[in-house]
Amino acid sequence: MNIKTDFCLKPFNTFGIEVMSKSCAQITSSGDLFELFEAGELQKQEVLVIGEASNILFLTHFDGLVIMPLMRGKKVISENESEVILKVNAGEYWNSLVDYTVERNWWGIENLSLIPGKVGAAPIQNIGAYGTELKDVFESLEAFDMKKGEIVNFNNEECGFGYRNSIFKNEFRGRFVVLSVTLRLSKLSNPNLNYKAITDVFDGKKTTEISISEIRDAINKIRESKLPDPQKIKNAGSFFKNPVVESKTAEQLKTEYPEIPVYKISNTKSKLAAGWLIEQCGWKGKRIGDAGVHDKQALVLVNYGTATGKDIFDLSEKIKNSVLDKFGVELQREVLVV
Ligand SMILES: Cc1cc2nc3c(=O)[nH]c(=O)nc-3n(C[C@H](O)[C@H](O)[C@H](O)COP(=O)(O)OP(=O)(O)OC[C@H]3O[C@@H](n4cnc5c(N)ncnc54)[C@H](O)[C@@H]3O)c2cc1C
Repeated sequence: MNIKTDFCLKPFNTFGIEVMSKSCAQITSSGDLFELFEAGELQKQEVLVIGEASNILFLTHFDGLVIMPLMRGKKVISENESEVILKVNAGEYWNSLVDYTVERNWWGIENLSLIPGKVGAAPIQNIGAYGTELKDVFESLEAFDMKKGEIVNFNNEECGFGYRNSIFKNEFRGRFVVLSVTLRLSKLSNPNLNYKAITDVFDGKKTTEISISEIRDAINKIRESKLPDPQKIKNAGSFFKNPVVESKTAEQLKTEYPEIPVYKISNTKSKLAAGWLIEQCGWKGKRIGDAGVHDKQALVLVNYGTATGKDIFDLSEKIKNSVLDKFGVELQREVLVV
């Protein structure tokens, strides 16, 4: 196993924040984790597991051990005429996995095209986009328990998935290293066109005539037109979650701001578009030093060069405060602040 000390994390976080970790272990098998456990390395210090750190904002140096799971590989566990059960190791890139499944006409994750990061991170916040969430195809995962030093399995229900949420962000935060994720994919054509931007692209076309690669291409095009590429402008995607509020609150806001987007998600709850709220507060395209709000998508905060984690965080606090003042709605960060 490759353990490095005084490890520079700047190339390993998509915000491009210049921070160090006390040490970093790049692991290539569960055996490496057993070794770290037996040597007491997982118990004596703070541990942070990262994939591409495309959903993390580092405020300062990390005084502990960073673990990077690098295990690659995929395996078909079983298949029949209509579906395939695919096990994927944590170190695979999510978007390469989408390519792989699209090439084989295995339906289920094509709407999650172009999401950065590794497969091991996908269940942590139940990644989602364009009307699909990981939980829709998630079968189970295998993880290393850093408290007990053993490998355990979680099925879909046990992961407690919610909107950008799971038990791994709550009671089990920081306890498990995801080793692999198993998905149930369909071999039968199954386009998910629930999201308006996608419906518009395929307007007038029969669903049976839409191929999986056409959906992937459409989603890639929409994403590329709206979201900054972290290779070019440093960012971590949506910085805030879309707030879920009581439907009564949403209705009140609608009378005051008739154009406010409101999505009813249950009998009593509605979701608001955080990007719209931020834009109405005048933040879109604003910049304080090298920390800024993207000019095409107000939900995305960016590092134009030398912003520190604190610069980005302070900007996010200002945004939160102005949304609270104007709309009485409290934004929650989607990004993990370390
Ligand atoms: C341009 C851009 C667009 C994005 N679009 C979307 C989107 O549409 N939908 C969406 O849901 N997200 C989106 N994201 C956020 C991000 O890509 C996802 O959350 C992704 O799953 C993070 O993967 P990662 O490997 O970078 O994880 P990291 O950022 O490294 O880690 C995220 C969390 O997972 C934990 N973690 C990582 N790997 C493991 C592991 N193997 N075992 C246990 N814990 C682990 C970390 O400790 C941390 O809590 C976007 C980000 C960017 C930069």
